[in-house]
Amino acid sequence: MVDEQTVLSVEQDSKEPSSAAEDEPPGQHAEWNSWIWQMQHRIRSADDLRRYMPALDPDDVMRAAERFPMAITPYYAGLMRSPGVSDPIYQMSVPQLFELVNSPYVSDDPLEEHDDMPVPGLIRRYPDRALFIISSACAMYCRHCTRKREVGVVEETISQAHLEQAVAYLREHPDVSDVILSGGDPLVLSDHQLECVLSAVRSIPSVQIIRIGTRVPVTMPMRITPELVAMLRRYQPIWINTHFNHPVEITPASRAACAALADAGFPLGNQSVLLRGVNDQPEIIETLCRELVAIRVRPYYLYQCDLVRGVEHFRTPLTRGLEIMEYLRGRLSGLAIPTFVVDAPHGGGKIPLMPNYIVSMSPTHTVLRNCEGMLVSYPEPDLGQATHRREGGGEVPQPGVWELVSGKASAIYPADSSRIQRRKLRHGS
Ligand code: SF4
Repeated sequence: MVDEQTVLSVEQDSKEPSSAAEDEPPGQHAEWNSWIWQMQHRIRSADDLRRYMPALDPDDVMRAAERFPMAITPYYAGLMRSPGVSDPIYQMSVPQLFELVNSPYVSDDPLEEHDDMPVPGLIRRYPDRALFIISSACAMYCRHCTRKREVGVVEETISQAHLEQAVAYLREHPDVSDVILSGGDPLVLSDHQLECVLSAVRSIPSVQIIRIGTRVPVTMPMRITPELVAMLRRYQPIWINTHFNHPVEITPASRAACAALADAGFPLGNQSVLLRGVNDQPEIIETLCRELVAIRVRPYYLYQCDLVRGVEHFRTPLTRGLEIMEYLRGRLSGLAIPTFVVDAPHGGGKIPLMPNYIVSMSPTHTVLRNCEGMLVSYPEPDLGQATHRREGGGEVPQPGVWELVSGKASAIYPADSSRIQRRKLRHGS
């Protein structure tokens, strides 16, 4: 445990910033691979912006940044190809005036997290899980952040008093078996600070699983040091969920960070957010999911953008998410397909959405649609409730959905299905 008076601070273990950084081109600094250096040299001001993005007029950026904080690691800024709205890295990291334009439906805390906090920092929405906010700081402040209301406004990490309150609550509520460390980003804590939290949570006998939600493998992958990995291993089982939104975020450095975690035995998942103008194209999500699986990160959720103040310009219609899910099914293995979810307003929790694959149902048969458009009848088991029996068996010419539901036909095939064409070729018909 940390000392009684200790208030964990993001950079308390940090060294002084190196003055040489101002003279060298980004990416060539000797300490580039130090996460402390990256934290200390985050882009936070108009002057910083001019240095990293000389073509950018920083005035509008800084107007938005006055409302919602800006911080971009030099590493993440280095992924930007052109400072403008056509660049996904720019969109996700650089403040824009759009953030100051809101619809009547948005609010600071649409998920009503503060109403589900039995003690400060601990959100309990589901019976067996609790989300524990241990930092209000991140390596980079995503422009689409759900906790934009507080993340980065003041950069601090959990106090000893709040840690003790949360641990006491968890001890008194053994039905909570799964604790998710979140923030902000838990991995901006030093190894020592994080270990204080982990050892306290792991000391609770009823806590089976600890999860860590972190975007540092994406925005500051050099944070995944051998020392951090070795420390985390002492508190297994730990699951780690990260947050890649676009294939351009998968780089040699982020691959190495994920490999270090996967090699150490941490199951890795990914939670993306669907963002208009960033990743709301089916092909982008397909590529992202393929590449995530290749680096041993399981696509877990694809979130509909929340109704958060300052994020309206990123929201897509729900139909867009469904179109993307329709596109993915059949093209990607189930392992690579995330669940599309809406985190319901008013704290309703996650609601999964998917295209409708059920066309019709009767007591004896259900008509299903596959990703090719094939309609197929699935016969239900006879549990003594069946009121209809198939008569005669054989399929009728040009069956419709009713023939499937009533059991008179078993499938309707799209005429030009490539799978059926392959079958015909193979069978020579
Ligand atoms: S890393 Fe997560 S908590 Fe931090 S700003 Fe991005 S989305 Fe928000």
